[in-house]
Amino acid sequence: MEDYILRATACDGTIRAVAAVTTNMVREAQNIHGLTPVASAALGRTMTAAALMSRFLKGSKDTLTIQIKGDGPLGGIVVVTDSDANVRGYVNNPLVYLPLNEMGKLDVAGAVGRTGYLNVIKDMGLKEPYIGYVDLVSGEIAEDITYYFAYSEQTPSVVALGVLTNSTDIISASGGFIIQLMPGVDEGAIDMIEGKLASLPAVTTLLSEGKTPEDILNMILEGKNLKIVEKAGCRYRCNCSRERMERNIMSLGKKELVSIANEQHGAEAQCHFCNSKYWFTEQELLSFAGEK
Ligand code: ZN
Repeated sequence: MEDYILRATACDGTIRAVAAVTTNMVREAQNIHGLTPVASAALGRTMTAAALMSRFLKGSKDTLTIQIKGDGPLGGIVVVTDSDANVRGYVNNPLVYLPLNEMGKLDVAGAVGRTGYLNVIKDMGLKEPYIGYVDLVSGEIAEDITYYFAYSEQTPSVVALGVLTNSTDIISASGGFIIQLMPGVDEGAIDMIEGKLASLPAVTTLLSEGKTPEDILNMILEGKNLKIVEKAGCRYRCNCSRERMERNIMSLGKKELVSIANEQHGAEAQCHFCNSKYWFTEQELLSFAGEK
């Protein structure tokens, strides 16, 4: 199945919903970074959240970044998406291995850590980006994103994210959904949705049964004037280039550039998101430093 995201409304627009299947995107992340199962789940859940949240961006050039920094062995997670759901990301320690948790699930909270913070940065082309900052509530990521929506955006939300690996540690399914209550939502609708969600199987169970984003939205919002308003693709895509790397290298400053040029006669810069390597010669470094 191709990766895609559905955006929908229900209850005459007082509920908005997005649901996605992101298996290929997360598999690509696993291939690029050599992620262990628990690192795949942590990065995959965060990438899925970013892909879903990309549907809420207003401008075509807007970008959204999720940064999670917990006190667990994974170190940190950085995920960036544009408004077309071109998503990229990395974790600080892709080789974290942890035994399954007491529920027999990948121990994402154990890898991320239960203490730390989550940032959502939205660059909307304004002078300053929007930055929402919350403390982690569980390190399981979906709950942390739920808390972010409630606290930073004042939008009551249900967030479910799931990544499954098979017996050979390869991603077999990934996806999730976000349901949000908008101003003016009917109390009866809230009760109905809470009832549906209470009996809804875990998102990993739904995905492993082959349920599609359409199926999942129908299970929650059927009979509530559910309208699919958009179907969009999503994918792993890095936008690094030699020019971007050049800007990173230049930001080291003149003194540092001259010293690297003199001592190492060149420098290699590696993209965190896709591991592409860019080599800069001694001459280039000196010219960046203004010493030509
Ligand atoms: Zn890259």
